[in-house]
Amino acid sequence: MKKVAKFGGSSLASAEQFKKVGDIIHADEDRKYIVPSAPGKRFSNDTKVTDLLYSCYHTAEEEKDIRPVLNQIQERYNEIIRGLGLELSLDGEFQTIEKNIKGKAGIDYAASRGEYLNGIIMANYLGYEFIDAAEVIFFNEEGEFDSEKTQEILSQRLKNAENAVIPGFYGSRPDGTIETFSRGGSDITGSIVARALHARLYENWTDVSGFLVADPHIIKNPESITTITYRELRELSYMGATVLHEDAIFPVRQEGIPINIKNTNRPDDPGTMIVENTCHKPPYTITGIAGKQGFVAINIEKDMMNSEIGFGRKVLEAFERNGISFEHMPSGIDTLTVFVHQTEFEEKEQAVISDIHRLANPDSIDLEGDLALIAVVGRGMRGTRGTVGRIFSALAHAHINVKMIDQGSSELNIIIGVANDDFEAAIQAIYNIFVLVKL
Ligand code: ASP
Repeated sequence: MKKVAKFGGSSLASAEQFKKVGDIIHADEDRKYIVPSAPGKRFSNDTKVTDLLYSCYHTAEEEKDIRPVLNQIQERYNEIIRGLGLELSLDGEFQTIEKNIKGKAGIDYAASRGEYLNGIIMANYLGYEFIDAAEVIFFNEEGEFDSEKTQEILSQRLKNAENAVIPGFYGSRPDGTIETFSRGGSDITGSIVARALHARLYENWTDVSGFLVADPHIIKNPESITTITYRELRELSYMGATVLHEDAIFPVRQEGIPINIKNTNRPDDPGTMIVENTCHKPPYTITGIAGKQGFVAINIEKDMMNSEIGFGRKVLEAFERNGISFEHMPSGIDTLTVFVHQTEFEEKEQAVISDIHRLANPDSIDLEGDLALIAVVGRGMRGTRGTVGRIFSALAHAHINVKMIDQGSSELNIIIGVANDDFEAAIQAIYNIFVLVKL
């Protein structure tokens, strides 16, 4: 049974971390296909190798000497090689990298070298085959991921590999230039490799034991989530819960492969399983809570709005014209409210307002800023009586005024709007009512 194991930057930041990873891989003979990130931070104010590579490229663009920063990067790798006791020199690789960066091989080329070099070390350490991602992960001329070509070539290539290390984060365009995914993109590579192998499981090793019911910066020692569906995860990630790159879900989802988020520093913790569907009842009605601050509500009023065909479209056109995407749009009989990101909206505020007047001719437009949106997500809410009632009563007891509520008909997600100042207290109140009281 094949498993793909992806290890994040903090899991590979030092020789000590590499050894933990080696032990994890050796503990299960199904872990034969490994996707490493670049070395991340060893301590909180350390710099990730990927960031050093970006700054190296910028230094080259300014026609300044890149040797100091390249030396710093090489030293990070040498420290790992020494700590693992490997007979490996990256001198030749660094000469090539220096030449290519000076030759302006592209910022993505520079950034990708973090994973590339870590992959070489990992393959050497494990005695696994090294497969350069540039030969098996493809992007098109526009720089978009080419799923079909990748699936075909990668699965063919992996058929001939008993084991392999495939660096994360990058691939190549048709002309051979290197292209990367967005930051954190090694998660996507892991997912692509799992799909190509028809793996049984995609393990994503990081420095936390999976997803937590709520942000630990707000809730002290929150419970962890043992099982979450792809859809629940999508709702929570959209609202700011970050552990896994959002796009990492799509390749495995096509094959129904579960993802297991695991902690390299606590390998025995079960972590979180991300699945297509499950009959496991969640321990609470809700699976997770996430939220974001910094929204503006634009309240638009017009008598008889409900019977005016096209009113909503005209209002939204005003936002579209100004390049602003909207988050939510709850409506009443003669009112319609559009929620947008405050920072995006502020600079275009007057242009949007006058466009709404011109296009939709409302009676009044009223703005309210400094709002927060909180998503309460859970497959257990479906068909459960009283979920909204409980949320409201918890918030009322905490003296928090609810400005908006929006529940999709899938009953998977309830969005609540509160003042920014009430954000943390609201999350605490919702967490308490569902998790501490165990409803
Ligand atoms: N090393 C890249 C980054 O820092 C990609 C990754 O770690 O997934 O964003």
